[in-house]
Amino acid sequence: MTEPQAPSPQSRVYDVCIVGSGAGGGMAAYALTKAGADVVVLEAGEPWDNAKDSAMLTWPYESPRRGRSTKERPFGEFDACIGGWEIPGEPYTRAPGTEFAWWRARMVGGRTNHWGRISLRFGPYDFKRKSRDGLGDDWPISYDDVAPYYDQIDRLIGVFGSKESLANEPNGVFLPPPLPRCHELLVKQAADRLHVTCIPARLSILTRPLNGRAACHYCGQCNRGCKVNANFTATNVLIAPALATGKLTLVTNAMAREVLVDTGGRATGVAYIDKTTGTDRRVRAKVVVLAASALETARLLLNSTSSRFPNGLANSSGTVGKYITDTTGTDVGGFIPKMMDHVPHNHDGVGGMHLYMPWWLDNAKLDFPRGYHIEVWGGTQVPSYGFMGGIHRYPSGGGYGKQLKDDYRRYYGATIGFSGRGEMIPNDGSYCEIDSRTVDRWGIPVLRFHWKWTDHEYKQVKHMQETFRALIAEMGGQVFSPMPTAEQGYGIAAGGVIIHELGGARMGDDPKTSVTNRWCQAHDCKNLFVADGGPFVSQADKNPTWTILALSMRTSDYITDQMRKGAP
Ligand SMILES: Cc1cc2nc3c(=O)[nH]c(=O)nc-3n(C[C@H](O)[C@H](O)[C@H](O)COP(=O)(O)OP(=O)(O)OC[C@H]3O[C@@H](n4cnc5c(N)ncnc54)[C@H](O)[C@@H]3O)c2cc1C
Ligand code: SF4
Repeated sequence: MTEPQAPSPQSRVYDVCIVGSGAGGGMAAYALTKAGADVVVLEAGEPWDNAKDSAMLTWPYESPRRGRSTKERPFGEFDACIGGWEIPGEPYTRAPGTEFAWWRARMVGGRTNHWGRISLRFGPYDFKRKSRDGLGDDWPISYDDVAPYYDQIDRLIGVFGSKESLANEPNGVFLPPPLPRCHELLVKQAADRLHVTCIPARLSILTRPLNGRAACHYCGQCNRGCKVNANFTATNVLIAPALATGKLTLVTNAMAREVLVDTGGRATGVAYIDKTTGTDRRVRAKVVVLAASALETARLLLNSTSSRFPNGLANSSGTVGKYITDTTGTDVGGFIPKMMDHVPHNHDGVGGMHLYMPWWLDNAKLDFPRGYHIEVWGGTQVPSYGFMGGIHRYPSGGGYGKQLKDDYRRYYGATIGFSGRGEMIPNDGSYCEIDSRTVDRWGIPVLRFHWKWTDHEYKQVKHMQETFRALIAEMGGQVFSPMPTAEQGYGIAAGGVIIHELGGARMGDDPKTSVTNRWCQAHDCKNLFVADGGPFVSQADKNPTWTILALSMRTSDYITDQMRKGAP
């Protein structure tokens, strides 16, 4: 379905060249081809088709690894997404003292082949945080500018949820949410008693058929790729229909090296490596859209040097690679005795949580700014290699033979855990730059990361830990791990580990302090756009992909409009 086509002759000039086919690039390819543009997508990874390639419904015993992870599939051998923290031949470096990890996908559809599909809109406050607490910066656009695009992607892609009319958690065009499962009902009861808002989750999984796609049959294996495409991947929901228009040329194994510009400073196309032969190639286009993921886009811009742009393309402000953020995160899990020896019953559900807890508190009464939401996990899933995280953590402490088998049955499903996902405020100590001493296997200079958490993030994560422990105690449970100390950063995950990295090409009205304008168009190069997380001004306490999709659709509409007028 997403088979590549042969690259067109070098002489061909496309309307638009898009780098990357993940959430941002996939949406741009979909919207621009539907609008009639002649589009080429350069994708560094290989083709994928959920219907053919997914390992959905494979039993663990069908593999000698029993689902254990491989190097190119760190989330398990049945996972759909090819990529990981380390990609052979594609290093990155860290400044001394920096803890940062960079997760990259290398396949058509990018990270949307695995993602958790938690699909949250940013709220009105999230676009104007500086005006509310004086920290970071406001976006040049507001919720009202993006809302019509959120509505369109809700209708196009599908998302379940419930209309709660909360101040900063906007309602969407929701499909009905699935009912809570047993462990989630316990969580809901405990959350209600502790006055923590707990509502149906918002995931881009179809609970009703939509736009020719089937509804979910609750096999709970979303991360393996859904053979019936009931969940969202850019691969089958955006790239495949874009190919069906006949207007898209998809070039896989094409590693973009730099954006090419003419002497007037306009982008003329993209230079890339054909990974199958190692040869240098070029593609020409009237408009270039970068959607290689936020940090890879910063790398491409910084590596696109010329006599006119010696510090990198679109970087006259010096802010390419700056103001990068990741979601703050920490997890706590526990054993819930009242769930032991459960009566077998139907636990079927989507491959993700059915409930979640949006930010519910007032910062005026707290010692940290911004907030976090809580993701819920636990209960029963198809057992795989390493399931239950080790039987030694349960009261029996491990064992052998019949007793061990009985204990597995007794404790199976008696675990509940919480993951906090919060807002980091951009700071001067967190940025990426080119490490001119290190190149990848194709000779392209790599990124070096600098990362710093501030007290804002540490205090927020301490609050997460305390809340999760209180919830587990309220359920009568026993937490698996002791409260992390201040010296341990209260258990904060290292930068990049939550895989929500944003920024590096932030938008703004002032070209002296931002890379792109409110349309994600480079201030310095009018036919160059960014359609991934690069233009984000702030992180919000939401997962970012629904906003990446909405902004990419908005930018694509703008490009279409400008092309019809003879620009950009
Ligand atoms: C385990 C996991 C769970 C997640 N859960 C959630 C969630 O629940 N909710 C949420 O909102 N987000 C989640 N995310 C994050 C989400 O996947 C990303 O925000 C989203 O995919 C970003 O879209 P993108 O288009 O910017 O990048 P990607 O989806 O990563 O796509 C970038 C594409 O560009 C290609 N590329 C990179 N460099 C080059 C180059 N030089 N030349 C050509 N092509 C290139 C890559 O191969 C890739 O296909 C999760 C991510 C992971 C890994
Ligand atoms: S749980 Fe639903 S959406 Fe996920 S893989 Fe199974 S059928 Fe597809």
